[in-house]
Amino acid sequence: MATAREARLETVEYRADQVFGRIGKFLTEHRLSPDPLHYAFAYRVISQPDGVLAKSVAALTEGGIRLTARDIEKLGGQITNGQASTIPEVCDPVAGLVAQTQMQVEGFTDMMHAIRAETQGFGRDLAASADAMRTVDSTVDMVQLTEVMLDRVQSAEARLAAATHEAEELRLKLEEAQSNARSDPLTNLPNRRAFEECFVQHSSGGETLCLAVCDVDRFKRVNDRFGHSVGDRVLKAIAETLLKNCAGHMVARYGGEEFTVLFVGITLEEAYATLERARATVAEKRYRLRESDEPLGAVTFSAGVTQAHPDEFLGSAFGRADKLLYAAKDAGRNQIRRV
Ligand code: GH3
Ligand code: MG
Ligand code: MG
Repeated sequence: MATAREARLETVEYRADQVFGRIGKFLTEHRLSPDPLHYAFAYRVISQPDGVLAKSVAALTEGGIRLTARDIEKLGGQITNGQASTIPEVCDPVAGLVAQTQMQVEGFTDMMHAIRAETQGFGRDLAASADAMRTVDSTVDMVQLTEVMLDRVQSAEARLAAATHEAEELRLKLEEAQSNARSDPLTNLPNRRAFEECFVQHSSGGETLCLAVCDVDRFKRVNDRFGHSVGDRVLKAIAETLLKNCAGHMVARYGGEEFTVLFVGITLEEAYATLERARATVAEKRYRLRESDEPLGAVTFSAGVTQAHPDEFLGSAFGRADKLLYAAKDAGRNQIRRV
């Protein structure tokens, strides 16, 4: 049995968890980084829900409007300067919500485990007492009562076990949803979001990073001549060839008929040579229609590949690779440019 002090401590911890969770939600909703200044502002809003500050925030954000940096400063809060003040694009609200829900579910599962352990202990003690009491005739009522209690404990245990199972299933579903949000259903390659996250993860790691942007040549003609579903199959085949030739590096479907590759830890020349092998393999293939064996002709891609400078933003390195790609297109397609 929990003592009054333990119960009080549990209540305090529960409230702290609630405040912490709400502050996190507030920062995510208003796209603020968990910087101490932002945290302090959110704490003032959340911890005094009837205070002047919370009321002003409620008035300003009525109808789902997000607070601006100016709003916060007007209300006496402070905003940290520069890019670090807002949550980067990769931490979008949806991802934030998933993470929050996941934390809640994990907390709930932990709680269930703790309660189960407690009730199991309680049940064992009761079982031991009941055995001891069975030997004394005058305590028959007591034995019956204890057995009823044991039944109740066992049924509570079963309900808790079911709830724990449900929580675990929910956690797995969330994990799956998170992974679906980062993968392209047609090719099964990581998608643009996953690619951007991967670039950000590696950009300050000190390793050499090269980025390639590849675009299928005259792809619209394939669709126009053979139909969209044949076009889809060609995209899948190109994705497989890129993946095979660039094994160990991240190949993503950036969108439409564009693929990106992030080469980590190899030089620009090595990245170029790897991609060049992929380009030649794709260009040599002679695709045919599965149904009629009709040839589709050659399908090729062009690409631009560049080395990212240390700490360079994705947009900047991507822009350079994209320009190189268009130079390759202008020069006749089915080729790769590097710098
Ligand atoms: P360029 O060499 O200049 O890149 O020519 P292009 O025809 O490849 O370029 P354009 O941008 O004119 O056309 C791209 C085509 O890619 C148009 C679009 O319908 C097709 N496309 C984009 N995504 C998909 C897809 O998922 N499946 C199929 N089948 N086609 C797609
Ligand atoms: Mg394109
Ligand atoms: Mg194209």
